[in-house]
Amino acid sequence: MAQAMRDTAGFAARTVIVTGAAGGIGSATALRFAGAGARLVLADLAVDALEPMVAAVEERGAKAVAVGADVSRPADCERLVDAAVTAFGSLDVLVNNAGVAVLTELATTTDADWQRMVETNLSGCFHMMRAALRAMADHRDGRIVNLASSAGVRGISLRGAYGATKGGVVQLTRAAAVEVGHRGITVNAVAPGPVETPLVRSHSPQTRAAWHRLMVIKRYADQSEIAAAITFLASAEAGFITGQVLNVDGGFTAGAEL
Ligand code: NAD
Repeated sequence: MAQAMRDTAGFAARTVIVTGAAGGIGSATALRFAGAGARLVLADLAVDALEPMVAAVEERGAKAVAVGADVSRPADCERLVDAAVTAFGSLDVLVNNAGVAVLTELATTTDADWQRMVETNLSGCFHMMRAALRAMADHRDGRIVNLASSAGVRGISLRGAYGATKGGVVQLTRAAAVEVGHRGITVNAVAPGPVETPLVRSHSPQTRAAWHRLMVIKRYADQSEIAAAITFLASAEAGFITGQVLNVDGGFTAGAEL
């Protein structure tokens, strides 16, 4: 079995694409894969932003290539997957992490903000999955991990548009898992609660206090805790898990404390 033959503890000779790799969760995830010996294809809007990441991956003894790509553009996604196959000969793992969040009430959400979130978070995930699934055509051990959000699992104020895109990511994840499971490819999602990254810089003390009240573990996650969940779902050990949403949210979706 391919699974038994591979080093189950690491990602040696596995090619991993991480989108949004210059950001908080993306960079932590890329470095965790690098520490486990993966070959990294790092993607973000601007290739310049990825240069420190390439150096950090190489410091860990792993290989990396950087690709400037906008996941909202189908042609960029095709080019990104082609770059992975050209650089390393195959694509084994896709982490759909690139995302944007504009926090507004639905009544005041602009068309531009709606379009940006839908095109990046939902269409971007679709474009990347479509390109990757074609490249993984005869793969027996492929992995796709999508970044959803607690806002895609529960309704949360100011996150109507953002949550709708992440709910869409959850459904894309389940449908893809059903379609490609017979090919040996697993498709799962990680749904973080609030994580200390640039994305939550705008959170006021009141917002932070409200989150703490709603979570069993009363703090924001460290980005390494999300990276750990992503790399687990991408690992050989997770080969019997597919179509699932792993809530990494300090107990936010578990229930309410009275
Ligand atoms: P971040 O803002 O730190 O990083 C996101 C990265 O994505 C940035 O480097 C950005 O340049 C890149 N990006 C944005 N649009 C892109 C595009 N069109 N094409 C390519 N790259 C693009 O965000 P983060 O907090 O690390 O979030 C990563 C993922 O996790 C996102 O999908 C986000 O929705 C999700 N998430 C984050 C939190 C949180 O609290 N931080 C919670 C739940 C889910």
